[in-house]
Amino acid sequence: MRLLEGKNVIITGASRGIGKGIAEVFADHGANVAFTYSSSEGPALELEKELTSKGVKAKAYKSNAASYSESEILVAQVLEGFGGIDVLINNAGITKDNLLMRMREDDFDSVIETNLKSVFNMTKAVQRTLLKQRNGSIINMSSVVGVKGNAGQANYAASKAGMIGFTKSIALELGSRNIRCNAIAPGFIETEMTAKLDEKTVQGWRDAIPLKRGGSPEDIANACLFLASDLSAYITGQVLNVDGGMLT
Ligand code: NDP
Repeated sequence: MRLLEGKNVIITGASRGIGKGIAEVFADHGANVAFTYSSSEGPALELEKELTSKGVKAKAYKSNAASYSESEILVAQVLEGFGGIDVLINNAGITKDNLLMRMREDDFDSVIETNLKSVFNMTKAVQRTLLKQRNGSIINMSSVVGVKGNAGQANYAASKAGMIGFTKSIALELGSRNIRCNAIAPGFIETEMTAKLDEKTVQGWRDAIPLKRGGSPEDIANACLFLASDLSAYITGQVLNVDGGMLT
């Protein structure tokens, strides 16, 4: 069964990692996929080709999620090119890890702007379209770290915890128009983001996971598929932990 047949989806940050995994799974389920990247033009164009070959409409857009004006322009372009928007996935994110003692002000600001303000930018930009059609699903990619904190990631944890507050607020604001807003809190997912961590840290994460493995982008994509589709029609304002049991 194809769960997103003909739905138009925007995914931020899908040139690689989790975003790419979501784009692939969604295209397999019949969704048309508009997605963004920051600098990885080659991989983004390759993904556009791959998705198109699955028989759906797909387009890569270079757009800085941290910029409100770029987000507005992006949404206008997607509406023109795709004819509508049904699902928004706020996935773009960065880390700039350090202990507070060594964390620079711009390391804090840039992580908050890319991870958290981006969610405001994109949600506000799609809001009018979703309100008019009285239907829509917004999914925000938070993190286990936003739920429980992590030493050396105060900026990142604050951004991801902020996304949860934003998610619950928007669920309350837009629920009466049948627009749902949920967050996913991935645990340790094996992507370029986590490949930057040293082996000792990685082993520490793996040891703490009841399922004893890191997650894959597809594990997260399948949870997104559920939250984007009508299978979750009565679910809003929730945080779905997809973490191999880490928070248990
Ligand atoms: P990656 O670093 O592998 O990929 C990040 C993606 O975001 C890339 O496509 C990148 O584009 C894009 N991006 C970065 N900055 C911007 C920006 N300013 N505007 C638009 N796009 C941008 O990360 P992951 O796939 O691992 O993570 C995806 C999301 O999941 C993030 O929000 C992350 O915080 C969250 N997450 C990840 C976990 C993990 O274990 N991996 C765990 C919990 C949450 P480009 O390629 O052009 O740089």
